[in-house]
Formats: sequence, structure tokens, C-alpha cells
Amino acid sequence: MPATANAPGLDAYWMPFTANRQFKAAPRLLTAAEGMHYTASDGRTVLDGTAGLWCVNAGHGRRDIATAVERQLTTLDFAPSFQMGHPLAFDFAERLAAVAPGGPEAGLDRVFFTGSGSESVDTALKIALAYQRAIGQGTRTRLIGRERGYHGVGFGGISVGGLVNNRRMFPLLPAVDHLRHTHDLARNAFSRGQPTHGAELADDLERLVALHGAETIAACIVEPVAGSTGVLIPPVGYLERLRDICTRHGILLIFDEVITGFGRLGAPFATDRFGVVPDLVTTAKGLTNGALPMGAVFASRAVHDALMHGPEGSIELFHGYTYSGHPAACAAGLATLDIYAREGLLTRAAALSETWADAVHGLANAPHVIDIRTLGLVAGIELSPRDGAPGARAYDVFVDCFERGLLVRVTGDIVALSPPLIVETDQIDTMVSILGEALARVA
Ligand code: PMP
Repeated sequence: MPATANAPGLDAYWMPFTANRQFKAAPRLLTAAEGMHYTASDGRTVLDGTAGLWCVNAGHGRRDIATAVERQLTTLDFAPSFQMGHPLAFDFAERLAAVAPGGPEAGLDRVFFTGSGSESVDTALKIALAYQRAIGQGTRTRLIGRERGYHGVGFGGISVGGLVNNRRMFPLLPAVDHLRHTHDLARNAFSRGQPTHGAELADDLERLVALHGAETIAACIVEPVAGSTGVLIPPVGYLERLRDICTRHGILLIFDEVITGFGRLGAPFATDRFGVVPDLVTTAKGLTNGALPMGAVFASRAVHDALMHGPEGSIELFHGYTYSGHPAACAAGLATLDIYAREGLLTRAAALSETWADAVHGLANAPHVIDIRTLGLVAGIELSPRDGAPGARAYDVFVDCFERGLLVRVTGDIVALSPPLIVETDQIDTMVSILGEALARVA
């Protein structure tokens, strides 16, 4: 279709991860947001079932964040991030350290700022490689990811990631291998919370150690709960086993908590929810409630301190971004942490998780549904694919829901729900009822 067939004004913007031509022929535009709702360009109210893109955990339009950002931008809009500082970046890092994944004993209280989830992932991978070199383990250059992992779109992230479409078009990092994913419909379908079967899949890491030699492996990165590839919840005991194998072989464990961080699972981080402590944690999204782009990597003191050597005046980690610790993003983040604390949002999903699971699992007998997975305030509803058209059925559900006032997210034939953590019970019921009607309507 020629670009000129689009509504006026839509051509120039090349949209990310979007079927541009299809979208521009029938655009869906959001023009305002408040609390749990978006307003669409045709004036309709749309219930936000996805916290934007898994990021608006405290709900939309938070005045405190807007005020803090405006105050910061009119006081100090920007400061160079290299060899210079500004107080808010130090304040924000200290505040994050105080709520760091795993609590004070975990010691994950050194914070490196980035501009996004992808940057956090590539930063964590580079920190892991630099750490191994610093402790005299320079042969450890291999990185281990997992099938169906999503770690953003940097070259590091797509290399350790397991999304085929992300990987096949581009050259990747050379020394990378993957664990199998843990998704197992045959054994675990319709399990609430953590599925029972599959802890042994962590032993894939032992196999890779046997294959490559532990002395070649720097780090292993997984999402504690894989979000973007369909809400895949780790089997009971899996993460513990992975932690144990990493520790025994000197491999750093990285949790990518870009989605699971900041309350999604009912605890501040998945690290807390599962009681398994990695060496590095990547975050973004909920860090600023999605209001401004920002990411952060939490590093253990051991990892951090190992890099704080070298000649006087040398730069310990040759890495960083113009926007690392951006003043406005720090202001947004500090205001966000205040809201999370004041409103108890980092643990609210725990109180709602049974209600959530009851409501979502109520769709078990809806047409096309072959699995439902829930934990905290996240859910994946897997549909049988339409013959010859993988993903088409879920896409139709997404469009139907949007037209009827509910934003859901689809990935392949999986519908994902992850509402803002301020969601009320009646809104959960509305989500499930709109989704149930959509499932009944699609062919
Ligand atoms: N890691 C995970 C686990 C994610 O879910 C995402 C984004 N959905 C990313 C990394 C990449 O984040 P960004 O889009 O901010 O680069």
C-alpha cells in the first residue's frame, strides 16, 4: 500500500515493533491518560490492562511525578554524566540501594544508571565481562541466555535473547549459548502461581558447563518471569537450582527484572518474591513509572568492588551514557519511589493475587484457551493458533478488546495482562469480562 493512502500526518513516524503499513491504515491513537484509563483519539475511555507497556505501575497522570520533573527541569535540566555529577543522581541511587532487590543482606546496592531496559541489559553483560577480567578470569567471555528470553534490542540483548525474529536478521555476539525455556503445556497447563514441573531444566547450565568448560562462561541471564514472550513463570525450584549451579562454577547470575521489578509480582522485585539472589539485576520501566525513559542496573558489592581498583585516576568501567542519571529522570524516579512507598504498591499485588488468579482463571473454559498462567498481578492467557495463521487469533482479540475499551498485549497467540498496581477488584472483573466476550467473538 502506498504511504499516501494513510491518514494525513502518519507517514514520517517509523514505528517500533509495529506493522507500520497495517497500523497506519487503521491507526489506534491514545491522547490522554489518568489513573487506570487511557483516552483514545475518538474520545473513548480504554481500561489499561497492561500498565502501558508493563511500566506504569502507579497508574497514569501522577501529579507528584509531573511536578518533580518540572521543578527539576527549571532548576537543572541537564548535567554532564561523565566526570561530573549532580546531587539528585546520588540521592536516587541511595534511595534505590535502600530498597534494592533481596534486601540489605543481598548487598545488591550499587546502582548504574541507563536510559532503557535494553541499555540496562547490555550494561549488565559488560559489567559481568569486566568483573571476570578484573578477578583474573579473563577467559570467561561466554554468555548464557535462554530460549524465549527477551532482553531488549541491543546487540548483547538480542544475542542472549531467545526471540527468533529478533535474532535472525542481525549478526550476534560470538560466544553465546542458551538454556531451554521452561514453558511446558503438557505438564503445567493451568497451574496457578509457579508451575510444579521443570526445575531440572536448570541443569541445562551444567550441560553447557560440561560442553564449553566453566572457565569460558562469564554470566547467565534470565528473566525470573519471562514477560514479553508470553508470561512464562519459573517452575518451583528452578531459579534456586540455577543459582546453585552458577555459584559452584563461578558464573555470575543476572536477573533481568525490567518487567518484574517494582512490584509486579507482589514483592518489590522477583529476587524478593522467589528468595533467590543474583549478582546483577537489570531494571527500567517501573523505575520512573514509565514517565521518563530510564533504567538502572543493581550490582552486588562484590562485583562493584572488584572493579574499583587499577591505577589512581583510571576509569574503572569504560562504559556509560549521556543520559545516565539524567536529572529529570532521577526526579521522576524519586517521586515514583515516594508514591510506591506511600501507597504500598510494591507489595499490593500480593494482596490482590488470589482475586486476580480467581478472576483470570475464570476464563479457563472460554473458547480457544489452552493455558492460563498467573502470578502477582500478571497473567498470560494462551490461545490455540488459528490454522495456518499463528498469532492472528490473539491479534483479533487485541483489536476487539481495544474497540470495546480494554488494552491488552499480545505476543504470538498469548494474551498478556499486567494492569497498573492500583487496579481495583471491579476493574479486574471488567477486564476479564471484556476479554471473555472478545474470546467468544473471534473465530
Ligand atoms: N528486558 C526485559 C525483560 C524487557 O521486558 C524489556 C522490554 N519489554 C527489555 C529488556 C527492553 O527494555 P527497553 O524496551 O526499555 O529497551
